[in-house]
Amino acid sequence: MKFTKRQKVIAASAAGVLVVGIGGFGAWQWSQTSTSAAAYEQADGELRTVNGERNRAAAELNKAREGALAAHTAAMQLSGAADPALLESPAARDDLIVATEALAKAAALQVNEVGALALPAAETANRVASTAAPEGREAQLAGAKKLEATATSLKSEAATLTKQNEAIKKAVAATEKSEQQLIASAHTKGAATEVPELASQETKDAFAAAVAALQKPAKNADLVALLRAYQDASAGMVASTEVAARNQDPASIEPTYINGILIANKTYPLPSWWGDGLTGETVAAFDAMQAEAAGQGHSLYISSGFRSYASQASIYNSLVAQVGVAGADRDTARPGHSEHQTGLTVDLNCICEGFGYQADGQWVAANAHRFGFIVRYPQGKEPVTGYIWEPWHLRYLGVENATAVYNSGLSLEEYLGITSSYN
Ligand SMILES: [Zn+2]
Repeated sequence: MKFTKRQKVIAASAAGVLVVGIGGFGAWQWSQTSTSAAAYEQADGELRTVNGERNRAAAELNKAREGALAAHTAAMQLSGAADPALLESPAARDDLIVATEALAKAAALQVNEVGALALPAAETANRVASTAAPEGREAQLAGAKKLEATATSLKSEAATLTKQNEAIKKAVAATEKSEQQLIASAHTKGAATEVPELASQETKDAFAAAVAALQKPAKNADLVALLRAYQDASAGMVASTEVAARNQDPASIEPTYINGILIANKTYPLPSWWGDGLTGETVAAFDAMQAEAAGQGHSLYISSGFRSYASQASIYNSLVAQVGVAGADRDTARPGHSEHQTGLTVDLNCICEGFGYQADGQWVAANAHRFGFIVRYPQGKEPVTGYIWEPWHLRYLGVENATAVYNSGLSLEEYLGITSSYN
C-alpha cells in the first residue's frame, strides 16, 4: 500500500510543466512577432508533454485506486476474521472502522473522478491535433487561447490528483495503524491469557508459537492468517484443557486391564464408582488358603479387605492434613490408586513387616500363588511398584496368572512391563 509518494511527485511535476506552458504563452502574446508560429509549435509540444504527464498520473491514480480497494478488502477481512475479544481495545476497533470507511470513500472518489478526467484529456489531445499547422495570426491566437484553457483545466486536475492522493495516504496510514493496534491487542490478550496447567504441552507450545508470531510478524506477513492461527491455538488449548479436566474427573476414568489383569497402581487409577466389596472369587480363594494353612498350623485372617474410593479419599486426605502430600504418598495410596478398591486385595494379620519373618507370613509367601494370590509388593521392588515391601498385602490374579508371576520372580509391574508412579 505504498503508492502515494510517487503519485505526489508526478502530480507536482505536472503542475510545474503547466507553469512553464502558461509562461510561454504570455511571452508569445507580448512579442506578437513572426516567431508566433514557432512559439505555437513550442507551446503545442509542451502541452503534449503535460498531457503525457497527466495520462501517466491518471494511470498511477488507477493503480492507487486498486491499492485502495485492496486495502479496503484487507481491512474488511481483518475485521471479519478477528476474534471479537481481540477488538476489546476501543481505539483499535474505532481506527479500523475509520480506515475502512475512508478507504471505501477514497475508492469511490477514484472511480468517479478519474473517469471524469479521462474525457477532457482525450478531447484536448484531439483539439491540439486538429489545429496542426495553422495559417494566419487569427488561427494562431485561437489556438493559443485553447492552449491556455487546457492548461488551466490541467492545473485544476493536478490539484484534484494531489487532493485524492492525500485522502488515500490518510486512509492507508489509518489502516496500517489499526492493523498494528489489532496485533498489539491480540498479543496483549495472548500474553495475558493464563495458560491452563491442565492443557497438554503440545497445545501450550502451539499457543506460545502463535502469540510469538503475532508479537513479531514478519514483513508482509498475512495478518489474517496469523490471527486465525492464534485463534486456532487458543481454541486447541481450551479443548485440551477440557479433555484433561474430564480425565481428572474420577468418575469418568476408564479402568485399565493389561493381559486381562485389572491394574490399580500409581500410574493407573480406578474410577471412583468402582468396586463394592471383595469379589466372590477372592473370598473363596482366601477361604481355601486359610483352611489349608490352618491344617498346617498357620493362622491367617483378613485385617483389611475392600476399601471404597470414598474411604481411601478420607484416609489419604486426613494424612495429607497431618504430614503433607509427600508424607501421605509414602504411607497410603491416593484415592483411585489403592489396589484395595479392586475388591481383589486383602491385608493379612498384623499388617506389619514382621509378618514377613513369621512362619505364617513365610508360608503365605511360598504358597499363596497356588490359591491365586501374589505378594503384590515384594522386597526390594519399591522403585518399580512404588511401594515398600508389604508381605501382608495379597492380590488375587487367579491361579494361572499368580503362578506365572510367582515363578517369574518379578513384581507384577515388571511382569506386565508397566510403570507405577504419580505424574
Ligand atoms: Zn494393603
